[in-house]
Amino acid sequence: MSAPKRFFVDKINYPEVTKVYLEGEEFIHAKTVLRVETGTEIVLLDGSGKEFSAIVADIEKKRLLAHITGVIDGDKEPTTPVYLLCGALKGDKTEFVVQKACELGVSKIGVFSSDYCSAYMNENKLERLRKVSREAAKQCLRSRAPEVEYFNGLEEALASAAEYENKLFACEFLHSSEADISKLDGATVVVVGSEGGFSEREYEVAKQHGFSGISLGKRILRAETAAVAVCALVAFALGELK
Ligand code: SAH
Repeated sequence: MSAPKRFFVDKINYPEVTKVYLEGEEFIHAKTVLRVETGTEIVLLDGSGKEFSAIVADIEKKRLLAHITGVIDGDKEPTTPVYLLCGALKGDKTEFVVQKACELGVSKIGVFSSDYCSAYMNENKLERLRKVSREAAKQCLRSRAPEVEYFNGLEEALASAAEYENKLFACEFLHSSEADISKLDGATVVVVGSEGGFSEREYEVAKQHGFSGISLGKRILRAETAAVAVCALVAFALGELK
């Protein structure tokens, strides 16, 4: 039997509240795509890291009622926060990066515009990225979906990571790394550029914000390859991929 289907809902005040309505997109998906029925066991995720098991008690036209039967702490979340800052990419490549970063245990994603970035962002695209994050979180059995934010410039993006212990800046024109990415301890932020890469000026700005440049080797990787590779490397160095 396949694992119970998972759905994101607003914060659940359990145990005071044991009856929860599933509405909107999550309801439509449950009803029309997953064909959830009365009596089906489901899992509700409220973004707190908890997983609520529930039984579908009633299906109405625009919502369904679920009765919570128990709660556990999700055990698939990373123990150390990892923040990915990625330049906005063309087509659906930013969606690809969000999906893979979520699977690799990233806790937060920031998408930014920069000097050589030619992709644009709008509310719809951002909402779509958030949806991709939620869907990826469900698929890989996480109990939290990484939040996705957009920054209109690199500086704002860098400033949003001020509190992180390790600050890494993947820079395609560096010949060697200024930080040892194989030995990381503590909350980590990593920046990857868009298809156009970074300017020298942006590299200097990143250093002023406390970032260390890292090289990912002799070859120039596509932005989405670099983003996925660096998420995996950071997760490995933090001991998250055991
Ligand atoms: N257009 C640029 C390449 C951009 S690659 C050029 O032709 O030089 C997109 C992003 O992926 C870069 O900004 C960087 O963050 C990352 N990246 C790609 N290859 C890299 C490498 N060898 N080392 C470090 N970062 C790399």
